[in-house]
Amino acid sequence: MKIEVAKHAGHCFGVKAAIQKAFETAKKYQASVYTLGPIIHNPQVVQELEKAGVKAVKNLSEITQGVIIIRSHGVSPEVIEAAKVGGLTVVNATCPFVQRAQNLAQELVKEGYDLVLVGDADHPEVEGIVGTVNGAAIVVSDAGQAMALPERKQYGVIAQTTQSLENLQAVVCALLTRTHALKVFNTICNATTDLQAETRFLAGRVDVMLVVGGRNSANTTRLAVICREAGIPTHQIETGEEIHSEWFQGKEHIGVTAGTSTPERIIQSIVNKLTELGGEL
Ligand code: SF4
Repeated sequence: MKIEVAKHAGHCFGVKAAIQKAFETAKKYQASVYTLGPIIHNPQVVQELEKAGVKAVKNLSEITQGVIIIRSHGVSPEVIEAAKVGGLTVVNATCPFVQRAQNLAQELVKEGYDLVLVGDADHPEVEGIVGTVNGAAIVVSDAGQAMALPERKQYGVIAQTTQSLENLQAVVCALLTRTHALKVFNTICNATTDLQAETRFLAGRVDVMLVVGGRNSANTTRLAVICREAGIPTHQIETGEEIHSEWFQGKEHIGVTAGTSTPERIIQSIVNKLTELGGEL
């Protein structure tokens, strides 16, 4: 039974940097260090940070003093301002790619475009981008929603960093029927698109796919969707304990991929478990 792991599976640059910043901050300040929401969508890493003294809070109102770390998804400037006004020290770990999307959103609005943001309206990254333009963005999840938009003089388009290129392209095509002037910035992160492409390629060559990562991670779930679209039996798991040996009965080739919020050591533990079950890298 052959095991094949997607080359870029696991932590991306932005997530690695945010986690490192969180551990460094815990060391520097020793106490009262918080993240606004979990630093990444991976429960195992969040637990490790808790052990190091970094606690996740849902709202700024839960804390009155200390250090607040802004995670890689970013937040609106209002949230940062509110934290400072409330006397908190702010450590900003917003990923530079998310920061770029925020900056471009502001630029488009300033230039007079009606801003369309392709993404999931409930995702914190999207909420942060919408906040940077004081709510002046229309969030659409797909081409169908874009088709329903009114005709406008000019639309500006950006995307949540974890969107697929196909979805952004479909929305852009739909918007061409809604305006004569369209300005598009591709704000999709390469870490995500490369991993999605590798995962699609891998799913096309194996008998079963394991997708490793937090169930609350949007990009991990998207990888599982890509594998299922390839028609391959797919199991989304957080740890090796969830693996069932029956999944591999009669299978010769197992593919493993992992979301950008999944640490290397968890991927390794999955590979170890597969090896125990008779797999070979
Ligand atoms: S997936 Fe890309 S945008 Fe998101 S945190 Fe990682 S590097 Fe940044």
